[in-house]
Amino acid sequence: MAWLLADAAHQTGRSFRWVIHSAMIIETTDEALGDLREAESGQRGFVLTHDLSYARTFDERINSAAANMARVVALTTDNPVQHARARAIARLMAERTIALGRPLKLGRAGDFAGARAFIASGRGRELMDAITVRTQSFLDEERALQTVRVEAAERRLARSQRLSLAGASTLAILLLLACALLIRGIRRPLAAMMQAMTELGRGQKARIAEGMGSREFTLLARGYNAMADRLELAVAKQATSEQRLQVANIDLQNQGEALRERNDVIELLGGMAHRMQAARTDEELAQIIRVFVPRVLPDLAGALYAHNNSRNLLVPVAYWGGLTLSPDGFPPDACWALRRGRSHCVLEPGADIVCGHASGEELYHCEPLLAGGEVIGVLHLRGRVPRESRFRLTVLTENIASALVNHRLQRSLREQTIRDPLTGLFNRRYMEEALALEIARASRSGQPLSLVMCDVDHFKRFNDEFGHDAGDAVLQAVSAEMRNRFRDGDVVCRYGGEEFTIIAPGTDATALLNRVEQVRLAIAELNIRAGGQRLGATSMSFGIATWTDAMDRDGTTLIKAADAALYDAKRAGRNRAKVSLVEAQRVAA
Ligand code: GH3
Ligand code: MG
Ligand code: MG
Repeated sequence: MAWLLADAAHQTGRSFRWVIHSAMIIETTDEALGDLREAESGQRGFVLTHDLSYARTFDERINSAAANMARVVALTTDNPVQHARARAIARLMAERTIALGRPLKLGRAGDFAGARAFIASGRGRELMDAITVRTQSFLDEERALQTVRVEAAERRLARSQRLSLAGASTLAILLLLACALLIRGIRRPLAAMMQAMTELGRGQKARIAEGMGSREFTLLARGYNAMADRLELAVAKQATSEQRLQVANIDLQNQGEALRERNDVIELLGGMAHRMQAARTDEELAQIIRVFVPRVLPDLAGALYAHNNSRNLLVPVAYWGGLTLSPDGFPPDACWALRRGRSHCVLEPGADIVCGHASGEELYHCEPLLAGGEVIGVLHLRGRVPRESRFRLTVLTENIASALVNHRLQRSLREQTIRDPLTGLFNRRYMEEALALEIARASRSGQPLSLVMCDVDHFKRFNDEFGHDAGDAVLQAVSAEMRNRFRDGDVVCRYGGEEFTIIAPGTDATALLNRVEQVRLAIAELNIRAGGQRLGATSMSFGIATWTDAMDRDGTTLIKAADAALYDAKRAGRNRAKVSLVEAQRVAA
């Protein structure tokens, strides 16, 4: 388009140059003709006025006319017809110049009359007319040529204008097309990206096809896809960490739960241990175990066994949950937990060896009670102990073991203070305390309370004849007899030496006399041996008294009354029982 436009402009320029060229020819021809006429005027002026300035004007104009005509001849070289005409005109003009110059020459020579006559002759007039006619036709031709050239120039100009218009419109259309294509080229990938981003925003797996048709968009799509990949990875990682966090949280909650549970168990066991420490008797201890163990290990029947004094049997201390068992217990060898010193359990029927003491039980758990590295008993549980209760079981057995050891220690210390070591009977100190207690109880309840004082007859003889050990054996034999023959509620004590006291609550002297008689007869029949020797028959004398309100409350009077009755029995010949005189009088009254 630019080349076409440039070409059109160039052509138009050339056309205009031709127009100008024609204009120049016309103008120069006109000037040459004018010069010739001016020169003629100058010649006439000089001839008429003899003024030399006219002669000079003639010279100037005639030269100018020649020069202008020469230019016209030169300008028309491109057009042979016009060129020939111009040369003809130039020739005529030269001839005319000569003709005009003659009167001037005459005038300069002073022959103005001859000059005037020459002019008046009218010679050269035809030449001038011929020049005018020729020039006119030459100019007409040139003007016609100029018109043609102007028209050509105008056509070319119009063509240039059309070209410019067409070029501009085409350019505009092309520009619009290019813009449309550009917009289309941008909109399509942009729409794809926007859709992908919207989907990504919704959490969908959105990717852009990388073949976008443009390098920039391809790079952009690649970058976006990489970003989406990383984003998805980060989201996945976050989800994983959130999951882990949740798991950790649940773990923490479970641990918290477990800790709370452990706290509860420890608190419960603390309460149990505290009560067990305060327990005085084995029965109290058993009660505490029966109450607390099912709370610590619910839904499990069980029994607690402990070594007996001679450590040859495990005897039940307590049992719960509907378990029935023999009070005789079992030997330590019958329990694998005791044999191995570690827990023994059968979790599936037939999965492990069954302890002898647990025969008939399919599933059970035996947990040894260890104290100071020594096995002191076993906790037997029927059924399966859940895994989560293992901690409870461990702490429970530790607590029970230490409480049991403590209880036994306390009991043995207490026994030592209230028992007589030789006979195993209560000692005098205990008797006095027990008597005061029973007197208080009897006075409150109105129930009778009796006391027996007894003494081995001629005991000194055993010592003297068989030695002190034989005496001790006699004391032990009669003690055992008395312990077995008096009722459970009766308190049999060694008062001192070979004298004994029996506190018999809820019994009056008459009723007690019968039992005393039975005891007396049984002792009389004893056949005591010591050091491989028969010690011979032994007997005892008894004095019985019953407490009355008139007596003092610490038991002194009652003991004295029984002692007096014993004295009576001794005096009456020994091996007999006597009721206190005070009592006899009261009965008689
Ligand atoms: P009686 O029938 O009058 O009671 O005569 P007895 O010999 O039993 O009377 P006595 O009170 O004179 O003797 C008691 C003796 O018991 C005196 C003492 O040496 C002895 N005795 C006291 N305690 C013990 C003991 O623990 N072991 C032994 N072997 N003898 C003891
Ligand atoms: Mg005595
Ligand atoms: Mg005696």
